[in-house]
Amino acid sequence: MTIRSITSRTKPSRLAKRGNYDETQIYQILDEGLFCHIAYTEEGQPMMIPTGYGRIGNKLYIHGSVGSHFMRCLADGRTVCLAVSLLDGLVLARSAFHHSVNYRSVILFAAGTVVTDEQERWDALEAFTDHILPGRWAAVRQPTASEMQKTMVISFPIEEASAKMRSGDPSDDEEDYDLTVWAGVLPLEVLPLPAITDPKMRFDTAIPDNVQHYSRKK
Ligand SMILES: Cc1cc2nc3c(=O)[nH]c(=O)nc-3n(C[C@H](O)[C@H](O)[C@H](O)COP(=O)(O)OP(=O)(O)OC[C@H]3O[C@@H](n4cnc5c(N)ncnc54)[C@H](O)[C@@H]3O)c2cc1C
Repeated sequence: MTIRSITSRTKPSRLAKRGNYDETQIYQILDEGLFCHIAYTEEGQPMMIPTGYGRIGNKLYIHGSVGSHFMRCLADGRTVCLAVSLLDGLVLARSAFHHSVNYRSVILFAAGTVVTDEQERWDALEAFTDHILPGRWAAVRQPTASEMQKTMVISFPIEEASAKMRSGDPSDDEEDYDLTVWAGVLPLEVLPLPAITDPKMRFDTAIPDNVQHYSRKK
C-alpha cells in the first residue's frame, strides 16, 4: 500500500500548490526529520506529544514504555494526526506581512497497531536507533529480553499523508522592492557541534566518524 491521493483530511485549503502527495518526497522528509509530534484526543481533551520514530517501508514506528500513558492511549487504535517539520530557512521579506519560512513538512493521519511479532519489534527498534544515528544499532549493546518486555512498539501505516513545502526568495509586493530594508533568506540546518565524550568512559575510544560528521541530510 502506498500514499493515497488527496483525501478530505489531507487537502490544504491555503496555497494548495505547495501540497504534495509523492511517496518519495514524503519518505525523504520523514527520514530527514528527527522527531514527530503526535496529536490525539483523550476523553475530548486534545493532546500532543513529541516523540522519536523510525520508518521501514510504508510503516512508521514509535516506541515507549509499556507503562506510558501516551503509548497506552494510542494502543487502542484511535486515529492520530502526526506531524514532522523541517525548517530550511527564515524568509525575511521587506514587509512584516510577507515574512515566511522555507520548510518541508509531512502530516500523516493513521491508526496505530501494537506490534506483537518479536522480529518486527526488533526491526522497528533497530530502525528507531539508526534513525537517530545511522549505524548506531550495530555499534551498541542491543536490548535484553527484559528491556524488550518493558517496551511497547506501535506501527502506523504511511498511507493518508501529505507533504507541503516552501523554498526560494521572499515574495514581496511590487512597490516594496523600492524599500532599502535588507531582504533575503537565512538558511537553517541541523548541524552538530563538537561531540562531548562521557567523562565516565573507561576506555580511550575514538569518537566515531558517524558522530563527528553527523548530518540529517539524506
Ligand atoms: C515551520 C513552519 C512554520 C509555519 N508557519 C506558519 C505561519 O506562521 N502561518 C501560517 O499560516 N502557516 C505557517 N506554516 C504553514 C502551515 O503549516 C499551513 O500549511 C498553513 O497554515 C496553511 O494551512 P491550511 O489552512 O491550508 O491547512 P488546512 O486546510 O487546515 O489543512 C488541511 C490538510 O492539508 C495538509 N497540510 C496543511 N498544512 C500542511 C503542512 N505544513 N505540511 C503537510 N501537510 C499540510 C494536511 O494534510 C492537513 O490535514 C508553517 C509551516 C511550517 C512547517
